Amino acid sequence: MMRKRLTYAARVITARCQVLRVLLSQVDLPWCRLLRKDLIYMHTHYLDDVRHACKIHITQNCIESPEAWLEAMCHSGWNEAVSKVFFVESILDKAAVGPGTVLGHSCHVCNPVQVFATSRALESHQRSKHGVRNFMKSYIDGSGRCPSCKTQFKARVSLLNHVNDRRRPKCKEFILEQCQPLEPSTVSELDANDNERRRAARRAGRSHHIVTAPATSQDGRVVGRASM
Ligand SMILES: [Zn+2]
Ligand SMILES: [Zn+2]
Repeated sequence: MMRKRLTYAARVITARCQVLRVLLSQVDLPWCRLLRKDLIYMHTHYLDDVRHACKIHITQNCIESPEAWLEAMCHSGWNEAVSKVFFVESILDKAAVGPGTVLGHSCHVCNPVQVFATSRALESHQRSKHGVRNFMKSYIDGSGRCPSCKTQFKARVSLLNHVNDRRRPKCKEFILEQCQPLEPSTVSELDANDNERRRAARRAGRSHHIVTAPATSQDGRVVGRASM
């Protein structure tokens, strides 16, 4: 929404510059208030992108220096700068987000917490920004039961291998679409348990902790081997 609003506003400005100049600076309509908020947000978080894309040296926000921002929005690079806004800041857009927009894929590593529109966006953010290698850990609890195909595993690590198996992406896709991530503190606890079991196995002279029974599918069939 925010991205659309910023792009749309630029189109209006380019077409009817004078009218929007007045709207932006003086009129107290909800849309104008939101637009001013968006521009202040751009100033706070994406100033370098705006400067770079619009080839303009802006220092102050749109309230202090509206002319500079109007000039930036009229520049052909404006849409490029706006395209950098890839997450939805919930406090800003609470009123503007329509039904069907899923919020709540939040990165708790970031401070302040960043919210992403899709779990895929969150996954790629966490991989590139925080080096998270096993994103699915946030979705898999200690029950050992695959939320998608209901196969019962004897250990969380086996279930993690199952949902991360690239040859059969269905379960991962289902989980990312349908399941809510666990609380970060719960994930840390589960990870700590897994690590403890791994250490215990290593002390006993094995490279992995041994799962004593194989997985069973929803109808009770034995699936796979008890190798992990
Ligand atoms: Zn983050
Ligand atoms: Zn599954």
